[in-house]
Amino acid sequence: MALDIVRADSVGQAAGVLAGDDGARFLAGGTFLVRAITAGDVSIRTVVLSDGLGLDRIALGDPIEIGSAVTMAQVLGEPHLGFLHPVADSIGGPAVRAMATIGGNLFAQSPYGDFAVALLALGASVVSEGADGEASQDLEAFLAEGPPRGRIVRAVRFATPAAGAFRYLKITRKHPHGASVLSIAAVLPVPGGTLAGVRVAYGAMSPRPMRARAVEAALEGRPLDAAAIEAATKVAADGTMPEDDPQASAWYRRAVLPVHLRRLLSGEEG
Ligand SMILES: Cc1cc2nc3c(=O)[nH]c(=O)nc-3n(C[C@H](O)[C@H](O)[C@H](O)COP(=O)(O)OP(=O)(O)OC[C@H]3O[C@@H](n4cnc5c(N)ncnc54)[C@H](O)[C@@H]3O)c2cc1C
Repeated sequence: MALDIVRADSVGQAAGVLAGDDGARFLAGGTFLVRAITAGDVSIRTVVLSDGLGLDRIALGDPIEIGSAVTMAQVLGEPHLGFLHPVADSIGGPAVRAMATIGGNLFAQSPYGDFAVALLALGASVVSEGADGEASQDLEAFLAEGPPRGRIVRAVRFATPAAGAFRYLKITRKHPHGASVLSIAAVLPVPGGTLAGVRVAYGAMSPRPMRARAVEAALEGRPLDAAAIEAATKVAADGTMPEDDPQASAWYRRAVLPVHLRRLLSGEEG
């Protein structure tokens, strides 16, 4: 079947094509989309190109803004985003990182979406554009509601975490780069000796990246000591809905999650 390739002059025009054709998809790095097309997904009839729309920029203000077409390799090339380098570096091999975009990662299903896990912990918001103009939405709501039809993600925004407050780990069976058995990202600010504004997010522990709210509640307002870590570890698997896949069974994911959470919180991993 023929595939139409559309080059739009603006994000608004590209969004208009997507809104008017349910067989149209926005092509970012293509690591998922091109694979789906070559695998014979005939529901995709039109591809709207993302290059030339100015979505590949990083603005290092406050908040930081990363354009949706920025690749993992671009993140790795930006020294001011050093705290995100372990995240970008954990995604695929060099060829995937050269193409995979931040925007595309927001649409990934478990066990993928590692960058989205980090952004969820960072409290990021998602800026998108559709026929009704530009809108900003909390990433958690964006992930819960599913891919917005007829809207293009322009960028993600988040505040720079306090120095040393951001932690990330990813557990894989295939080294150095495999899909997640699980990933954990956390922002653990300790402004006056006690944790304030804790955010913890998991990857591969539910179909989309999720917040570990019970863990956050167990840590908030306490010093990051052995007692707090013990309390957090006890509720590590609360609310999780992992799936069985070739990386791991759901049972295994739940069983090892507390071990890795404990290591992350104690600073032994991540
Ligand atoms: C070998 C291999 C290894 C991988 N390893 C990992 C890994 O370790 N961790 C991980 O998280 N992922 C991994 N991935 C998955 C994937 O590469 C990443 O999730 C990547 O970030 C997806 O981005 P993309 O730009 O390639 O998306 P695309 O394939 O271009 O798009 C994916 C979907 O998102 C939509 N989309 C993309 N951008 C936008 C936008 N701005 N607005 C609206 N819709 C949009 C597209 O229309 C499409 O439906 C791997 C993939 C492969 C092939």
